[in-house]
Amino acid sequence: MSDVNELPSDNAVYRTLLESTKAIPWKIDWATKQFAYIGPQIEALLGWSPQSWMTVEDWAARMHPEDRDTVVNFCVAQSQAGVDHEADYRALTKDNGYVWIRDVVHVVRNAQGEVEALIGFMFDISERKKTEEKLLALQKELEALSFKDGLTNIANRRRFDASFELEWDSASRLRQPLSVLLFDIDHFKQYNDLYGHVRGDRCLVDIAHTLSLALDGPRDLVARFGGEEFIVLLPGADATVAQKVAERCQRLIQKLAIPHADSPHAQRVTVSIGVGTVVPGEQLTPSRFIDAVDQRLYAAKHKGKNRIEAGADLL
Ligand code: GH3
Ligand code: MG
Ligand code: MG
Repeated sequence: MSDVNELPSDNAVYRTLLESTKAIPWKIDWATKQFAYIGPQIEALLGWSPQSWMTVEDWAARMHPEDRDTVVNFCVAQSQAGVDHEADYRALTKDNGYVWIRDVVHVVRNAQGEVEALIGFMFDISERKKTEEKLLALQKELEALSFKDGLTNIANRRRFDASFELEWDSASRLRQPLSVLLFDIDHFKQYNDLYGHVRGDRCLVDIAHTLSLALDGPRDLVARFGGEEFIVLLPGADATVAQKVAERCQRLIQKLAIPHADSPHAQRVTVSIGVGTVVPGEQLTPSRFIDAVDQRLYAAKHKGKNRIEAGADLL
């Protein structure tokens, strides 16, 4: 009586099956570290004849140098531990190219439980890798674009919101201060009316660039917050540091000296700045903190513009 689940006992059948699949079968004798078998398909894929695969060293040597150490160490460790495993790497072709391979390895033990051999399949995954790499590059490009302001090339509002949330949480955990400066260009509507939108845009680009020069902390961030508003995030900065950075920004914009014939401030483009510092805690939410800084900016405008409004108590 024959069972359909019963395996055929004919070696020729196995051989035909193994050598007609796209996956490339192989076997390594653990004691000698020699190839006992490798499917003839290997030659079509990499150009190396099956006979040229003698030892584990041949396998390691035909691997991209950047992948070799990690992959070889991983596979040896897993094999010694008797654990089935898989690894992706770039295999060298005879004409000096590389093909991405996924090697799926099964550890065979003898009756005493000792590792006797490794058997496995090599899969050509180059197409999948190519697609993955393209998608990854595209994703990076999109991410970079989606966090950048199209006009000024500095971070946009979305990027600020994301960084602000992270820094808020981190400062809250570490009980450290965090400061924010909010900028609004003074009399900018008149600037546009006088010089036109193109010069107005140019002015925004120059101010954005100048503000980015004023920052030096590795996590400091300047972003375009709205039309002619900018925001600076200073993680770890207390009120004294924030005040200094605000003054430096104002000084650099003064030095930039963009003419503005209708401005009462020496006929130059100026900014008003609201400054706030907080050690994030339960008493204040991130959005109420930004509101409070915005109120400072409003106060600076109210008091005559071209000034910095700061102070210790935010609430
Ligand atoms: P204040 O001194 O009180 O800040 O007055 P303001 O004129 O600067 O403020 P207001 O909010 O009245 O006007 C802001 C102006 O900024 C109006 C708008 O045309 C201009 N603006 C906003 N975004 C852009 C932009 O991308 N390019 C240009 N050229 N102008 C912009
Ligand atoms: Mg404004
Ligand atoms: Mg303005």
